Amino acid sequence: MRMHRQNLIIALTLWMAAVASSGMAENAAARPAPQILVSDLRIGQRGEHTRFVLNISDKVDFEVFTLADPYRIVIDFPEVAWRLEPGAVQGPTGLIKGFRFGLYRPGRSRMVIDMTGPTVIANKFLLPPDGERGYRLVLDLKPTDRIGYLATAGWPKGAAEPTSPADEPPVEDFSDKPANAKRVVVIDPGHGGVDPGATGVDGTYEKDLVLPLGKALRDALERTGKYTVVMTRDTDIFLSLKARVAVARRSKADLFVSLHADSAPDSFVRGASVYTLSEKASDKEAEALAKAENQSDVIAGVDLTNESDVVTSILIDLAQRETKNNAVKFAQNLVPELQRAGDVTQKSHRFAGFRVLKAPDVPSVLIEVGYVSNRLDESVMGTNRWRRVMTTAISRAIDRYFRESRLDHKPQAGQ
Ligand code: ZN
Repeated sequence: MRMHRQNLIIALTLWMAAVASSGMAENAAARPAPQILVSDLRIGQRGEHTRFVLNISDKVDFEVFTLADPYRIVIDFPEVAWRLEPGAVQGPTGLIKGFRFGLYRPGRSRMVIDMTGPTVIANKFLLPPDGERGYRLVLDLKPTDRIGYLATAGWPKGAAEPTSPADEPPVEDFSDKPANAKRVVVIDPGHGGVDPGATGVDGTYEKDLVLPLGKALRDALERTGKYTVVMTRDTDIFLSLKARVAVARRSKADLFVSLHADSAPDSFVRGASVYTLSEKASDKEAEALAKAENQSDVIAGVDLTNESDVVTSILIDLAQRETKNNAVKFAQNLVPELQRAGDVTQKSHRFAGFRVLKAPDVPSVLIEVGYVSNRLDESVMGTNRWRRVMTTAISRAIDRYFRESRLDHKPQAGQ
């Protein structure tokens, strides 16, 4: 069937308008601040029942569901402004072990409650305002057994987890990249939104340390004029590990740098480490760290029951070999730069199975820039000076990597 020219133009115009408006919706800076406030949270216990109450300024549509392994309750809201102290509840209360909250995707906020065991939501309702109090979201919880829990856990029927935009984040399409295009570097500030990452001794969240560092690194790289920089996130928003890998692949990145800050039981441990992908971890700590970092989706309440691993086929694994070698080369450039910038850990380059490093065709490294569990590291990592030193070190390593890389034989812009 042939489309009439006029119809084609109309269709194109509509499509362009749709693209323009969706682009605006994605732009966090352009969105008005959310008007709905969530403040004050109370947990009460009577017998084996636990009541969870959240104060909300307006009437909201909310959705509640449970996920297994570990046992979690997820509450989804339209985008709200949080006025809650993360430390409002000390330790486990009744059936509730802990909770976290934040932006899950543009226009949608999420709270994830960790349970001490299988729990059934006996009641959920929104109480209308009463005197000075606004609306209250109430959940009544009681214990159940695992079989009973699994029978109802998962996304509510007919409300399958939407896959976009978190899984298919909008990124610029570089598929027609000319040979003399700039190098594409993807910077991935770890965690975000409902997933805070590690918490420091003084309460600093990992997600809040690595975001400004990522932005500073982006600015430093862009100033050189040699790189096109793509950020996986530039606001305090959650992004699944799969989505981060997707950004790397869809931007046809030449390098992927994931930024994190570690936490260790020993508060004296400090300094930076660089990690590259390997199915076999180089040591126990590296393995434990990869396991913790790979929990990100679980922490944010993503349903992973139907999700296979990002990379499973042997063919992809073979193609990955060169990619991995290039990542190792970059890591070897990076360690001496980090050493010059400050402290690095004893085993400064290690290997483990980080899911976020699994783009088969993009050399990927993960930098743990320091330890939030160390008071000195934690306080230093918040400063402009530290960010300057760190971004200089990383950009120098990036420069050298591309200079030395065989890939570098491709003609570059301006040469
Ligand atoms: Zn992390």
